[in-house]
Amino acid sequence: MDDVYLALDFGGTKLSAAIFRKEESADFTDDADYSFFKSAKSAKSADSTSYSLLDLRRVVTPADADAAYELAAMIALARELLGGRQPAAVGVSFGGPVDFARGVVRLSHHVRGWENVPLRDVLAGEFGCPAAVDNDANVAALGEHRFGAGRGVDDLLYVTVSTGVGGGWVLGGRPWRGHGGMAGEIGHTVANPAGPLCLCGKRGCVERLASGPYMAADYGGRVGNPPGGRGEDPLPNPLPGGEGTPIPLPPGGVRGGFGGEDPLPNPLPGGEGTRTSLPEVEGTAMTGRDVAEAAAAGDEVARAILLRGAWALGVGLGNAANLINPQRFILGGGVTKAGEAWWAEVRRAAAATALPEVSFDIVPAALGDDAPLWGAIALLTTDD
Ligand SMILES: [Zn+2]
Repeated sequence: MDDVYLALDFGGTKLSAAIFRKEESADFTDDADYSFFKSAKSAKSADSTSYSLLDLRRVVTPADADAAYELAAMIALARELLGGRQPAAVGVSFGGPVDFARGVVRLSHHVRGWENVPLRDVLAGEFGCPAAVDNDANVAALGEHRFGAGRGVDDLLYVTVSTGVGGGWVLGGRPWRGHGGMAGEIGHTVANPAGPLCLCGKRGCVERLASGPYMAADYGGRVGNPPGGRGEDPLPNPLPGGEGTPIPLPPGGVRGGFGGEDPLPNPLPGGEGTRTSLPEVEGTAMTGRDVAEAAAAGDEVARAILLRGAWALGVGLGNAANLINPQRFILGGGVTKAGEAWWAEVRRAAAATALPEVSFDIVPAALGDDAPLWGAIALLTTDD
């Protein structure tokens, strides 16, 4: 057996595979500057074990790919990387709910055919070595804890703010998956019970307000209806942190009040209680990045939507802080690149929601696009 570790990332629209080697005699500098990892091919974990990234491949999957296609393509990708070597172990990040204990993928929200696939055993059989499979948020949390912005911090929540909002806990230095492996679903905690309808059937979830596609949908629905148009305020809620007001948004906004009118139109297909796919902005390819860019360019509606998302996320983090008291929140995903105003509002709302005695910090993720692969290595080498 060769001393290489295989890391796989089933990312929904792309597949990534990498091979790592464990370094016995490491002389890597323990660099406190997290940007180190963005370019480095090696990383030292908190326990002084080092791993080198030897090679990495990515492929984009066709829109009509199913689970069988993805699995075959991933195995081919891995075989190409290994070049005949046998891995010591295979770690997998999967973009969807996973029953870690059984090594079974529950389903994918993006790719059909993943229902109850025993991915761990399939890969263990394929490569003749131990395998471990977990969902992408848990894997990223472990990766940040071992190699990234969470080194030396044993109680943390990693949150990805991207096409969805998901989270993974590390508590006492170990992954905390909860009963049934469903811990960390901060995206579907509620920031505003009178808010717009979420894909999960509830209103005002953190994900409904803070994720890229939903912000884009809200913004797309508002373009052409600028503030003051048709006598309607596009966002009844006052801007959090804006206009010199230090207080968080009241539920439902000032005009609606408790149980008041939904402040934004509901672009969701399906209906109440229906779990549907993520929204798409009709006729456009608008994304969360477009909202952030419009906000940066001075578009007030975009700014309000972006900061409302930051506020909602901050409320979710503050509630999580009150409940679990972690030392650090690590935020990754595309929306976290929205700029300083976004970060300031997340931190302000979190601090305003948490009790004064509950302290924590909120920092950017360090591992970037390769986080799932580093996390898959951490998954193999973390006791749980
Ligand atoms: Zn929800």
